[in-house]
Amino acid sequence: MIGTDFQYDFDFAVVGGGPAGSSSAISLRQHGHSVVLFERETFPRFHIGESLLSTANDAFAALGVAKQIESAGFPEKWGARLYTHDGQSGRYVDFTNVREVTKAQTYQVCRQEFDRILLERARKVGVDVREACNVTGCEFTPDAAILDVASRVDGATSRMQVRALVDATGRGGLLARKFDLRTEEPRLANIAIYSHYTNVPRLEGPRPDDIRLIARNDAGWFWLIPISKDLTSVGVVLPKDLYRRLANGDSAEEALNRTISDTPIVAELMREARREWAVRVEKDFSYSASAYAGDRWILAGDAGSFLDPVFSTGVSIAMESGIEAAAELHRAFGRNDFSASSFAAFSRRQRKRFERFRRFVVGFYTPQFRDVFFSPEPPKLIFRSVTTVLAGKWNSSLWTRFLNELFFGIIWIQKRLNIARRVFRRDRDAGYPIEARSKDPVASGV
Ligand SMILES: Cc1cc2nc3c(=O)[nH]c(=O)nc-3n(C[C@H](O)[C@H](O)[C@H](O)COP(=O)(O)OP(=O)(O)OC[C@H]3O[C@@H](n4cnc5c(N)ncnc54)[C@H](O)[C@@H]3O)c2cc1C
Repeated sequence: MIGTDFQYDFDFAVVGGGPAGSSSAISLRQHGHSVVLFERETFPRFHIGESLLSTANDAFAALGVAKQIESAGFPEKWGARLYTHDGQSGRYVDFTNVREVTKAQTYQVCRQEFDRILLERARKVGVDVREACNVTGCEFTPDAAILDVASRVDGATSRMQVRALVDATGRGGLLARKFDLRTEEPRLANIAIYSHYTNVPRLEGPRPDDIRLIARNDAGWFWLIPISKDLTSVGVVLPKDLYRRLANGDSAEEALNRTISDTPIVAELMREARREWAVRVEKDFSYSASAYAGDRWILAGDAGSFLDPVFSTGVSIAMESGIEAAAELHRAFGRNDFSASSFAAFSRRQRKRFERFRRFVVGFYTPQFRDVFFSPEPPKLIFRSVTTVLAGKWNSSLWTRFLNELFFGIIWIQKRLNIARRVFRRDRDAGYPIEARSKDPVASGV
């Protein structure tokens, strides 16, 4: 203890055993601290979020799991294949073109196994991992963070005192709800319907397991993600208003089947597919936080913010922010200052990363962005700069950021002059968010 005789059960507590929680717990141990991690589920447990970015490799190296991930047999991802609904137009987003990442090739993972590997690593480095333990409440005094924990096995409750807390509870948002931190994203009010299938043909050629991203002829889009030798995760994302119109009171399963059958290229790929899981639905998944840290607490991963899944940013950001949270708490330990103001740089970084990706994600829900993004022969240099961000390198070089500006400049011009072929519908029934057209400066290409 530094400068106080206060008794702590552990230096730090991490709530949540997903990628953000495991990453911060492993890193805190690597910094030499005592750490307890509470996870309410018993692993392995299902989770959506299966396609990773190149920058995830840096996190694997930092956490000491690179070899394990490499030998786990996860399908290799080298980039993304883009298609329009009819399979006519589209191009390859090739991560190997990116010069600013350590290693381009990454993976698409079955989350049960992936999250288990990370949590086991936490155990191995000495984190006290407690599964089936629900953190039911927490409070903060000038000297400590105090957690209430309930066992889901026998209902036993306990209290725990630590110096500070990492909230990595994902969309559940333990502290975001307690302190009312969430900022909604009305322009990304989408719904995802998905399942896992066998018998979905893989891509031909040397990179058969890349993600396919297929734009519908409205504002919706599909992902097809190989997550094991046999299984492919298939899901559709639709703006909620469009979903209501398309589903017309039918079940999510019927809506998924209908959107598959009226998207020609997906219908063709799914001709022999067999569904192996229940159809699942997720919504209200895009938001940020008014604060990413406070007195004796810090948010990591989805507990802070999450963006629509279109560019597969979630897990890679979760690991990155978990590692950053640990570094921040280690610094705070050294100066014995866990105050909100001492975490200002951490919060700024989380917000900056969110904003960088958000610009692309919000843009994707406009037809002009899609006209340019899906065009088969885009200007090479500019698209390499876009691919750099999509490979996860959000804090890229000044030159790349300048080229990103040119990309958004092209979209701005596309709004007015149609310099690229108009492939995507503009009519109201296409279901693009209306607010995005009028108010959001990013969506309007500025
Ligand atoms: C439809 C959809 C598709 C997606 N596709 C992708 C993709 O292709 N690629 C990608 O990278 N990301 C994707 N994501 C995002 C991805 O799922 C998340 O960003 C990622 O899981 C975040 O990790 P995390 O550790 O922050 O949270 P989580 O993985 O959600 O982990 C949080 C953990 O906290 C535990 N927990 C919650 N509350 C408590 C409590 N009170 N006490 C104890 N434990 C608690 C939960 O049980 C959970 O295990 C997608 C998301 C959606 C909605």
